[in-house]
This record gives sequence, structure tokens and C-alpha cells, in this order.
Amino acid sequence: MRTKSYKKLMIVPGYACNNRCIFCINYDMRTMPERSTAELLRRLKKGRADGCDYLEFAGGEDAIRKDFCLLVNAARKMGYERIAVATNGRIFSYPDFAKRAVESGLTDIIFSIHASSEKIHDQLTQVSGCFRQALAGIENVLALFRSVKNTTVGTNTAITKLNYKELPNIGKFILNSLGLCNAEFIFADPSRGGVARHFDMLMPKISDAAPYMRECLYLGQEHFRRGIVENLISNWAARYVPLCYFTDFFPFQISDVRENIVFNHVTHSTPEGATPDYLKSRREVSRRKTLRCEGCLLREDCEGLWHRYLEEFGDSELKPVKDTSVRERKIKYIKDFLSCR
Ligand code: SF4
Repeated sequence: MRTKSYKKLMIVPGYACNNRCIFCINYDMRTMPERSTAELLRRLKKGRADGCDYLEFAGGEDAIRKDFCLLVNAARKMGYERIAVATNGRIFSYPDFAKRAVESGLTDIIFSIHASSEKIHDQLTQVSGCFRQALAGIENVLALFRSVKNTTVGTNTAITKLNYKELPNIGKFILNSLGLCNAEFIFADPSRGGVARHFDMLMPKISDAAPYMRECLYLGQEHFRRGIVENLISNWAARYVPLCYFTDFFPFQISDVRENIVFNHVTHSTPEGATPDYLKSRREVSRRKTLRCEGCLLREDCEGLWHRYLEEFGDSELKPVKDTSVRERKIKYIKDFLSCR
């Protein structure tokens, strides 16, 4: 697979979902009106006119929309090179749907896996049978993707107080049982939704979660390093973390850093409106660094912590980075990346 940087459009058709995940950032948005097919087609067309070549559907559970395959297929015909969807995976357990979705032109499917066992996953998603359906969905898609070039199957895992100690087991499960080496581990976002509502129950401290996250990141490190050059879409990384707890995974395995290289621009289009430069906005609006970060060598790359997190826990966990080799690693990574284009 050729490496290149993409211009990405992330589109949210709506927030309807067939799960009730307790940590969901969009927990309070479920009843918002869905965008119409015509509106979405117009937005997809504009994305192509703006030069976007990577499209990601995010929601809600977009795949349960009646027009989902139509939208994917239309995007494909418009010329989007890659089309990704993040999904709880349940609808992909139906072989007919999985076949239609793959044939419509999806190239990257990211399944939510929040535990290594049915019991915990179903508790977190609040739907009995969800785990088994997601696994059946992965199996169906892997079988279908065998005959389609340049496709990836990945997972994402929301990290909360209820599952962070399970992370090494979750990593082993994804690698060994699912046979996937493409995964993202997402530190809880307390800005709004489920984690904001149930902060005490769900929000872990980074100093508590980091040792388990690190153990999990090490598990996939070798697979990931081997894959970097041939496929930049693949991942085995943490998201939304302060870099001081993950210096040995910088920059390869930190999504917030890596996506600034993989994507030369990211636009978000949601039912509430557009964020024309999403990466800049997240950095400037949602998270922050503090006075403790003064003199940290990773300050420029780091997005710090969520505002709400700092309000509740303060910044005493942050520890400025002084080791110059971490920045040299980033320069090498970018050189490797550019030399492959
Ligand atoms: S000390 Fe601050 S700037 Fe440095 S890595 Fe930690 S959070 Fe980021």
C-alpha cells in the first residue's frame, strides 16, 4: 500500500444509535434530527471539490441508516480514495448487510471493542449480545475484505475507570483472538456526554491508567512498526493523552501526533455545523497545557489534558519532558514517511 498524506472529511450524518454506551461523548445527542440524504450528498460533493480524498463516517451508528450504502457508494463514485466508518459492529453481523456495505466501497472499518469479555463489553454498551454481534461482524468483514485490495479492519477501545485495568487483556484479545494489529485506545473525554455526566464513576486519572495503557501499547509495537512504511492508515496507538506518560511511544503510537502527519487537513461536518480545521480547533478549544508544562520539550506536539479533567483533578500529574532524543525520533519518523511517498 502506498503511503501518502490525506485530506480528510469526517462527516456525522446524525447521532442515532442502537447501543447505549455509558461513556459515549454523544450520549445526550441521540434524539437530534438526522441529516437528510440530499444534504449529505451535497456535503460529500463539496468535500471532493475542496480536495478531500479520505472520508470517515462517524456518529451515532451510521451503518444503521437506510441510506448508508447509498452514501458510501456515492462517495466512492465522487472519487474519495478511502472511505472509513467507525461502528459498534452489530449490523455487520448480518452477512447480507456486510456484503452490501463492503461492495458499496468501504475501505476501512473500525469496530468498537471495549473489553475482552462479553460480560464487560455488554455492560459498557448496555446491550446484551452486543459483543457477540461485533465479533461476528468482524469475522464477516475480514472474510469479505480478503478479496478487496487496500482495505483495513481495526478496533477502537474507550478507556474508562471501568475497563482500564483490562487493557493488557484487551490488547492480547485484539491481537491474538481477533488477529488484528490495528487498534486505537482512546482515553475518556469528559467534555460532554456520558463521561461528563458520570465523571466520578468513569474518568480515570492518567497516572492510574497509563501503566496499563503502556503495557497494551507495547503488545502491538512490533507489528505496528513493521506496518508503518507500507500502510499509514493502520494504527496501534493511544489517543487524547498527555505525552509525558508516553514518551517511548512518541510519535508513532500517539494518534493525536500521528494524524497531524497522516492527514494534511481535517474538516468535521456535523448536524450542528462545521469545524473547518478540526486539528487546530481540538488543540485550541478542547484541551490545554498548564504552567507545569513550561520547558517541556514535547510542549509543541502535546495537546495536554481536557479542560474538565484539569478542573477536577488539577495538573499535579504532569511531568515536563527533558529527554532530547524524543524529538529526534519524530524527525526520523517524518523523514521515513516522506521518503516513502
Ligand atoms: S508536561 Fe505538559 S506539555 Fe509536556 S508532555 Fe506533559 S502535558 Fe504535555
